[in-house]
Amino acid sequence: MTKKLNISHLKSGGIITNYYCSSSCSHCLYRCSPEWPQKYIDHKTAHHNLEILKSLGCDSIHIGGGEPFLNIPELIRVVDQINKMSINIEYIETNSSWFKNSKSAEETLCILLDHGVKNLLISISPFHNEFVPFVKVKNLINSCYKTGIYPFFWIPDFLPEICSLDNSRVHSLEEYENLFGAEYISQALDRYMICPGGRAQNLFSKYRKRYTINNIFSVESSSGCTELSCTDHFHFDLFGNFIPGLCSGLSIDAGDLGKQLSPDKYPIISCLHSKGIKGFFYYAMEEYGYIANKPSYSSKCELCFEIRKFLVAEAKISSRELLPLEFYSS
Ligand code: SF4
Ligand code: SF4
Repeated sequence: MTKKLNISHLKSGGIITNYYCSSSCSHCLYRCSPEWPQKYIDHKTAHHNLEILKSLGCDSIHIGGGEPFLNIPELIRVVDQINKMSINIEYIETNSSWFKNSKSAEETLCILLDHGVKNLLISISPFHNEFVPFVKVKNLINSCYKTGIYPFFWIPDFLPEICSLDNSRVHSLEEYENLFGAEYISQALDRYMICPGGRAQNLFSKYRKRYTINNIFSVESSSGCTELSCTDHFHFDLFGNFIPGLCSGLSIDAGDLGKQLSPDKYPIISCLHSKGIKGFFYYAMEEYGYIANKPSYSSKCELCFEIRKFLVAEAKISSRELLPLEFYSS
């Protein structure tokens, strides 16, 4: 019998306002980039997401992307919507790429402060530094201090290395390895607590031990991926999707939260939830003729993504669960 997933309580999470981004970081869980359509969450979808979020016990969220500051008027509108629903905004995430000069940044920060925003999560990592010169990050931090918004560094641990480089330009991961050692990026995956999903799978594939499919099946629980029911760091997106766990590329209609998911509407998520990666592998093989592409994988999630990509790109199934489609084409 298929165990039914029921997400009935939300602990801590956020709203993805947009997937388009100024950067294409190699660790990005959602595969964001400038290539995505320049769509921002609309009023109706934001309202729907927020109502559901509140009804499931959550009254505090963060705003993330993509880069939320790529459309500042829309960002302010979302902030107002959240405020109107008496939901606390923990922080807004940013990669600082939007910083042009102190005057314009401080004007924007003052508006946000007036609208109740108290904290910015400022991304600091070698992965971000491949796309954003650190001088922008430093200047934005200074503007935060001047205006009274608290800049929360994620993560300060990388500051010594990043600050030691020429801050006026970007630096590749190869440069970091050449300067700080061949293990630097591999260790950075742990220091930054990177999830092995989205674009980060390429990094895990390069830097982590690999396992055959039989190895993966032998260590994974056949009772299913418990990650799917975890709401410790959930996200709703601009399309009204709820992303279960940190399993980017999987999607549940936000309106289906709070009740048992139908295996007819959600065969893939139901299979992964009740039978795990092994069950999903055989499901894809038997139903759609999937054959594994590689001799080994860095994790069950790399295999899961390969199967899902096959279903979208080769079996060409139309699925409510495998969204947004850009995730699979980026
Ligand atoms: S990690 Fe952040 S800054 Fe980098 S591509 Fe993803 S959303 Fe953009
Ligand atoms: S195997 Fe798939 S469903 Fe399971 S945790 Fe990984 S990405 Fe999520």
